[in-house]
Amino acid sequence: MRASALLSLLAVPVLTAAAPAPKAKAPFKVTWLGHAAFEVVSPGGTDLLIDPFLTQDPATPAADKDLAKYKPAAILVTHSHGDHVGDTVAIAKASGAKVIAAYELASTFGLPESQTVGCNVGGRLQVGDVTIHVVPAMHGSTPGGRPVGFVLTFKDGRSLYHTGDTWIFGDMSLIQELYHPDVLLLCVGGGPYTEDPATAALAVKKYFHPSAIVPMHYGTFPPLAKEDEVRRAFAGDKRLRVMKPGETLSF
Ligand SMILES: [Zn+2]
Repeated sequence: MRASALLSLLAVPVLTAAAPAPKAKAPFKVTWLGHAAFEVVSPGGTDLLIDPFLTQDPATPAADKDLAKYKPAAILVTHSHGDHVGDTVAIAKASGAKVIAAYELASTFGLPESQTVGCNVGGRLQVGDVTIHVVPAMHGSTPGGRPVGFVLTFKDGRSLYHTGDTWIFGDMSLIQELYHPDVLLLCVGGGPYTEDPATAALAVKKYFHPSAIVPMHYGTFPPLAKEDEVRRAFAGDKRLRVMKPGETLSF
């Protein structure tokens, strides 16, 4: 067969059923409220607050310090430190939201049993259309059990990982293997407390393949890294999404 004939054979279109257009994924929304505080609204509308340190956070916009506006299905608290527990109890009392935290911490809030959800590393909880996985964090949480992070998995298979306060640790590779987070809410602030921007960037490079990296726990107080240090550490990484407190992103 001449080459030209072969080419014309190859050019015959293959008849196949039209492939269905990829289904657009309903977005989940992430609002940074300053420091480690986020409001996450799932594709199905489940509203979750994480580490709502608001009224005392100098970075939280005034409009977001109005606790009456929060009606979350649940409040997730990574550990017992004041810059994470923040306004948890006040919001829970006003809204009736459940509070999810390490068992030892959850039991210190003085909330009714119906609102107190104790958990621990490895635990899995369901709130609305969100599955919450409790993962380790390398930090402290005294008094109140151990520090944790949370992976929120949505029905479309995507997931978001709030690291809590942490240093880089090898088990991040297991968090990647098990939950492959698409969005990282990544502790980067350094100072005397946590991994600094460069170490946080190393953690992403070594362990994760997210589509978006949202830095947090920086800039709030003087010992923490400032925004320009965070940007420098992630220079050239187009996945970095530096948010302003009060800003909302859809993923
Ligand atoms: Zn902290």
